[in-house]
Amino acid sequence: MSDYYDVLGVSKDASTEDIKRAYRKLARKLHPDVNPEAGEQFKEVSQAYETLSNPEKRSAYDRGGAGVGGPGGGFGAGFGFSDIMDAFFGQGGGGRGGGPASRTQRGQDALIRVDVDLAEAAFGGERSIQVDTAILCPTCKGSCCQPGTSPATCDICHGQGSVQRVVRSLLGQVMTTQACPTCRGFGTVLPSPCLECSGEGRVRARRPMTIRIPAGVDTGTRIQLASQGEVGTAGGPPGDLYVEIHERPHPVFSRSGDDLLCTLQVPMTAAALGATIPLETLDGAEEVDVRPGAQAGEVVTLKQKGAEHLRAQGRGDLLVTLEVVTPRDLDEEQEELLRRLAELRGEVRPSGKLSETHQGVFSKLRDRLSGR
Ligand code: ZN
Repeated sequence: MSDYYDVLGVSKDASTEDIKRAYRKLARKLHPDVNPEAGEQFKEVSQAYETLSNPEKRSAYDRGGAGVGGPGGGFGAGFGFSDIMDAFFGQGGGGRGGGPASRTQRGQDALIRVDVDLAEAAFGGERSIQVDTAILCPTCKGSCCQPGTSPATCDICHGQGSVQRVVRSLLGQVMTTQACPTCRGFGTVLPSPCLECSGEGRVRARRPMTIRIPAGVDTGTRIQLASQGEVGTAGGPPGDLYVEIHERPHPVFSRSGDDLLCTLQVPMTAAALGATIPLETLDGAEEVDVRPGAQAGEVVTLKQKGAEHLRAQGRGDLLVTLEVVTPRDLDEEQEELLRRLAELRGEVRPSGKLSETHQGVFSKLRDRLSGR
């Protein structure tokens, strides 16, 4: 028995690609369709390729192990004509094994963008939307034919879906298989295609639907709705619909992950004396406890009052930044009271004082937001 590497004309350390290339080159010369006299040689080449293109068989062969060569020769186990054609043309291009193609194909996935407001994104909801998509043809119900008619076997390929052709090339005559141009590979033709869908079995339509927005979505979140995409051709199953969320900005609340942020104006007196201030949140009334002596920029955290977590129990927090409002337009009595207060506090001629660090409360908020 000849050495397989010699048969293919490759070195012992040839890559699988090299082996494939060498085989293809030889097969073009030796394939029985091209060169009927080279039958034995082609068998030998095919056998060598079958062993060396399979890493396990190759290493067994390299070790001189048993079972080398496999059962039968040439078109050995699992090495049918379509394999040869695939090897011949690479990636199955051109030729097609496996009979006619089906008109029935799965539909495409579709993507739509939905604008939601902050409350919908944070807490979920339902939305009515219109989707431009492909639906089953209402006239033929996916049969692609005018009612009362049906597809007929293609006369050109006799239902095979493919036709064979001999091509002359530099390497000699080569038999190629290509999709039948008459039936486009389907093996059948439509004598009376459905007029509504032109024989596609589906039509374009605007479909109204109601979708559920899960709580906790954010801009960029994609919701997959299985089988809600475009219906396939000839009654094929639909693809999936992806809904991409785009969150509209809110005038008062903003969002950082699952935390919600807002700024609350607090009168100077309340900041000094402490107060409980009502706050209307996105989902109900809350109270913000302002401690006596609260400073501008201070953050009060309302635990679990943020957006819902999308894929977990619980909610983020609501972070309320205090904005201390200095009173203006003082009347005489108020001004008098404040002057009196300044006297009592020794602040009539305030010295002012530079903060020891400019890392104030704002950086605390920043740290909080970045999770430090
Ligand atoms: Zn139709």
